[in-house]
Amino acid sequence: MANPVILSVDDDPAVSRAVARDLRRRYGDRYRVVRANAGPEALEALREIKLRGEQVALLLADYRMPEMTGIEFLEAAMDLFPAARRVLLTAYADTGAAIDAINLVDLDHYLLKPWHPPEEKLYPVVDSLLDAWSASPIAAATEIRVVGHRWSAESFAIRDFLARNLVPYRWLLVDDPEGVRLLAAAGVTEADVPLVVTGDGKTLVAPAEAELAGLIGLNVTPTADFYDLIVVGGGPAGLGAAVYGASEGLRTVLVERLATGGQAGQSSRIENYLGFPDGVSGAQLTDRARRQALKFGAELLSTREVVGLDEAGSARVLRFSDGQSLAAHSVVLATGVSYRMLAAPGLDEFTGRGVFYGSASSEAPSCVGADVYIVGGANSAGQAAVYFSRYAQRVHLLIRGADLTASMSQYLIEQLGRIEQVTVHPHTEVVSAAGDEHLQQLTLRDTRTGEQRDVDTSWLFVFIGAEPRTGWLDGTVVRDDRGFVVTGPDLVATK
Ligand SMILES: Cc1cc2nc3c(=O)[nH]c(=O)nc-3n(C[C@H](O)[C@H](O)[C@H](O)COP(=O)(O)OP(=O)(O)OC[C@H]3O[C@@H](n4cnc5c(N)ncnc54)[C@H](O)[C@@H]3O)c2cc1C
Repeated sequence: MANPVILSVDDDPAVSRAVARDLRRRYGDRYRVVRANAGPEALEALREIKLRGEQVALLLADYRMPEMTGIEFLEAAMDLFPAARRVLLTAYADTGAAIDAINLVDLDHYLLKPWHPPEEKLYPVVDSLLDAWSASPIAAATEIRVVGHRWSAESFAIRDFLARNLVPYRWLLVDDPEGVRLLAAAGVTEADVPLVVTGDGKTLVAPAEAELAGLIGLNVTPTADFYDLIVVGGGPAGLGAAVYGASEGLRTVLVERLATGGQAGQSSRIENYLGFPDGVSGAQLTDRARRQALKFGAELLSTREVVGLDEAGSARVLRFSDGQSLAAHSVVLATGVSYRMLAAPGLDEFTGRGVFYGSASSEAPSCVGADVYIVGGANSAGQAAVYFSRYAQRVHLLIRGADLTASMSQYLIEQLGRIEQVTVHPHTEVVSAAGDEHLQQLTLRDTRTGEQRDVDTSWLFVFIGAEPRTGWLDGTVVRDDRGFVVTGPDLVATK
């Protein structure tokens, strides 16, 4: 594999040369240092790097450049290499702009020019940014390819897992010429897929999530048997608990059953998170929180589901689904909520093969020209309808009420009203699903008249709220009748 790239851009040729020279001196054996004298030229270089399938670890851009400012360049570069670390080079007078850029382009650092000596002012910053990049799943995932059947729940699970962990991959069908070549090279047949192939030629046939996690550099095994604090759940609440536990010096481990970020990790833009006035994507928020927790020494375990909690004297013992256990002085439960499943004959059978819970944005490009059905009348269903309308021929929003006003924000109702491809079907519910290999037909019922009708579709996305999955706490932790853990003064009332 080619070395990952460090790209610097500065319109002053002398400075541009000096930056590249300092970078090459220290990192030239592990990274390819590329330099440009203007933003457009640097973007062109990035496009070529992308086409060659190489990785970019770090971008350093001068703030004041005539054709395109450093901030504009970094913003455009994020579309091509969202995981590359971003540094703005500024003069003292521009620090205000640099601080603004921290939010605008999710800047990792701004470096004041000149930085001599580089051993003190440049290398420590770049070292830590490159360490963070190298530890990210993206660095391990160069050129991951997934070969599978179009309508396979197992293939979908692998793609969904990679997407949730922010790992780029190429999806190839079994009859795609390159898919055929990879199957032959791996010595497997269509019957064995999904097949995962890494850039350095490692292959995994129908891997379990833990195996896949190991392949992309995620930690799945704790380093100790006993901790001060175990946090269960890697959403924003769990990551926050891990940061504060570890920063207070507690030996802390966070246990996540799927991918850190939780529900928030799936959000395309969060506008109301404290400290991010210009919004932040769920992916960026997760990446930053992970790095912060790791920086303070917390361990983050992925693909480990907790299925039991026991008391053992003053210790608390967590049981994992694979039978192993882990003990601590304290346990923080930050397990959030999980999508509520729609109950109708046939739906379980087609989950991952036409029936999806949540946005499943990895499926959107496959919906081009199709009729897509969405169940739910709240904001998440509305956002999904807007999103899928960019791909689908028609989006049908099925709601049980008379209209959307009871449960959807007004701005979203108005937005949907302006999209010609979206049709809202009031008083409608799904009665059953049918198909051979995958979902092909839904039966819908008008809840007022009881009248039923069949519609042909291969796509159903369900957004009917979420519920806590806390059954495993039965007998150990007090929960209310809907499964929520009882806390604070409410505990007194339950005595
Ligand atoms: C698409 C989308 C967009 C959103 N946009 C916004 C927004 O713009 N603004 C906003 O305020 N909110 C938004 N939300 C809601 C917000 O994401 C949630 O309120 C927030 O994520 C809750 O955080 P949490 O850490 O409590 O739980 P979750 O995010 O639900 O995380 C819980 C984690 O615990 C893990 N877990 C559960 N049980 C176990 C177990 N037994 N063992 C191991 N791990 C377990 C789960 O896998 C999950 O990762 C959005 C939600 C979604 C789905």
